Amino acid sequence: MLIVFDLDDTLYDCSGQVKFETRWQDARCITPFPGAIDFLSSYPSKKILLSRETDTGLQNVKIDSLGIRDYFVEIYLCQRGEEKKTVLEKIQREYSSEDIWVVGDRIDSEIQYGNELGLKTVRLSCGKYKDMMPQHKLQEAHHTITEFLQLYKVLPT
Ligand SMILES: [Mg+2]
Repeated sequence: MLIVFDLDDTLYDCSGQVKFETRWQDARCITPFPGAIDFLSSYPSKKILLSRETDTGLQNVKIDSLGIRDYFVEIYLCQRGEEKKTVLEKIQREYSSEDIWVVGDRIDSEIQYGNELGLKTVRLSCGKYKDMMPQHKLQEAHHTITEFLQLYKVLPT
């Protein structure tokens, strides 16, 4: 099994902890969602981080603030949203024997791309996109949760 995680509003409360104007300072003080570190360190699957970077270097500051770098077998930082789909395709090829899950907060990004590729998707409905309504079937996640810790309920045990 392999889980591909988004970062912002998936592993920590980006909407609540990072303001655009002070994003570089804020990124140094962010904290993971309750249970996220336990999950990353002990859930028996491979994990990959796939995040879009709006400012060069900012995602790396966040990853180190959260202390999560070592939990991932790979970390991909994209410049554009659509690149996430290209990376997911590459992951699908390279880990073809794995049961691949995508966990994220954006139904118009990682959830849609994951569904388009036939992967399993979990929407963490929190942060500024939590009320976004699916515009079509491919934006509907297989599972929707409202807190990170609910991942345990939807993933295979
Ligand atoms: Mg996100």
